[in-house]
Amino acid sequence: MTNPRIIVLTAPSGAGKSSIARRILAAIPAVRFSVSATTRAPREHETDGIHYHFLSATEFDARIEGDEFVEFEEVYPGLRYGTLVAEVGSATREAPVLLDIDVKGALRVKELFGADVMAIFVAPPSVEELAERLLARGTESEAAVRMRLDRARLEMTWRDSFDHVVVNDDLERASAEAITLVSRFLQTESEKGANPS
Ligand code: 5GP
Repeated sequence: MTNPRIIVLTAPSGAGKSSIARRILAAIPAVRFSVSATTRAPREHETDGIHYHFLSATEFDARIEGDEFVEFEEVYPGLRYGTLVAEVGSATREAPVLLDIDVKGALRVKELFGADVMAIFVAPPSVEELAERLLARGTESEAAVRMRLDRARLEMTWRDSFDHVVVNDDLERASAEAITLVSRFLQTESEKGANPS
């Protein structure tokens, strides 16, 4: 890889990172979304190969066997998610890649790719607000929301391990901040490191 550029967006589930990711992709068309593999079932609006590569547990195991993952995590009990080598292997400064992954996976990607990565932690204003957002989204049962909140509390403790923390108090403001950070990162040379500020 020459001068690879990997942007990682991570956050507790429901903090709004997917909305911010969509805005980054719209604002900077050169950035390509890394489509993860997952064993969870598709939601109604989701398409295989666009939102995720939806795999059975057996298919996921086969990809692990074949060394096809950069990282993978059991993000929720029984549900695995992973970044494919095929998705990030070709990232360059001209064709950077954006990963929307969980906190542990993000730490792993940073460890593996070092200064080629800029990792942004999107923080909700508070865990209470996160609970409201998850319930309002209505895509999960109450038990699933509780599971996500437990994990969110743990993930919030790791926020300082990332290059930048963007508080999602207002989606447009937070997206503009993230877009500025990504634009700056894409202008830096690999050797200079990941944190331009
Ligand atoms: P959801 O089920 O809401 O789409 O995603 C659940 C969580 O899994 C989110 O935090 C999402 O960012 C994370 N996730 C998605 N893809 C990956 C991946 O490839 N690796 C890891 N570690 N987490 C992922």
